[in-house]
Amino acid sequence: MAILFHCPWDNAAAWLAALEHDLPHDEFRTLSDLTGSGGDVAEIDFAFVWKLPHGVLATLPNLKGIASLGAGVDALLSDPDLPAGVPITRLVDPLMKDRMAEYVTATVLHHHLGLDVYDRQGATQQWQRNRTTDASDRTVALFGLGQMGERCAKRLRALGFDLVGWSRSAKEISGVHCLHGPDGFEEALAAAEIAVLLLPLTADTEGLMNAAAFAAMPPGSYVINCSRGEVVVNEDLIAALDNGDPNSRHPNDGHLAGATLDAFAVEPLAPDSPLWAHPNIRITPHIAALSAAATAAPILAAQVHRARNGEPMHDVVDVAGGY
Ligand code: NDP
Repeated sequence: MAILFHCPWDNAAAWLAALEHDLPHDEFRTLSDLTGSGGDVAEIDFAFVWKLPHGVLATLPNLKGIASLGAGVDALLSDPDLPAGVPITRLVDPLMKDRMAEYVTATVLHHHLGLDVYDRQGATQQWQRNRTTDASDRTVALFGLGQMGERCAKRLRALGFDLVGWSRSAKEISGVHCLHGPDGFEEALAAAEIAVLLLPLTADTEGLMNAAAFAAMPPGSYVINCSRGEVVVNEDLIAALDNGDPNSRHPNDGHLAGATLDAFAVEPLAPDSPLWAHPNIRITPHIAALSAAATAAPILAAQVHRARNGEPMHDVVDVAGGY
């Protein structure tokens, strides 16, 4: 049997070694094998992919399954020539949930404790104690209560934060005031002193965090984007950081206090992006929850075995829903 392997990351060799270890009887083929004389495409029954060029999957006649090498599937689902009826899975790896939860708790605490403000004060040797807020008096709103959102909720709850969550369907999570659907969005925004974005990129979430959404958040609040860059309208974010309420006690302050962004519509983020230069925005290069070859390989191998044994695969994506 053969598997198409397409991984544009700089540690692709380590991924391949881990997969070959867990699927020792498979031959792994790359894009160059498909275009060259690297074997019969009819032998390929599975694909492990990340950012595969559009149209390639449609050239594989015997696919039983397609697995994303990451948790997000927006790039994969944007292929207009996806083979119909072939199940697509996203990567659900407990290690990645822990990585995301660490990133989110660290970033929430950074803003909650005002460390971003002290970083700026330190640049001008300003010794000034700012007002403190206790975790129980700070509402963190998780937009997206899937595998990542739930794990983050658990960690943030342990730290004592007041939690609100928002999802597409109704949910019940202990210690989280769960809201859902368009009706719940306004209430979640109104409560969001720190908004953590853990949504997939879909037709419904693209541009969701725009000027109206930021205006609906409390003054002095923060945005943490761990989902996809397209969910946030950057110009609106910068405007909300720069422009406050002229009637407030601090008319020179922006409506939003700060943002941490981990995902961007175009990556790497262009050197001339105004996001880099903004003093209240912290940028991380899409590292919130990197996929890990060592833990992902056995998960992916199990998916292949399920598909070949005619069993349903786990974590299958709803193609029509977009995630
Ligand atoms: P899941 O599919 O497990 O969860 C997605 C959540 O978003 C669900 O709660 C879902 O609601 C909710 N949702 C989807 N569409 C809407 C909508 N229109 N309105 C309200 N809620 C909506 O995804 P994951 O938790 O695995 O990952 C979330 C995203 O995080 C990924 O798609 C990816 O873009 C990003 N990601 C980023 C990483 C990074 O390093 N920066 C790493 C990994 C993932 P419901 O529960 O009702 O279905």
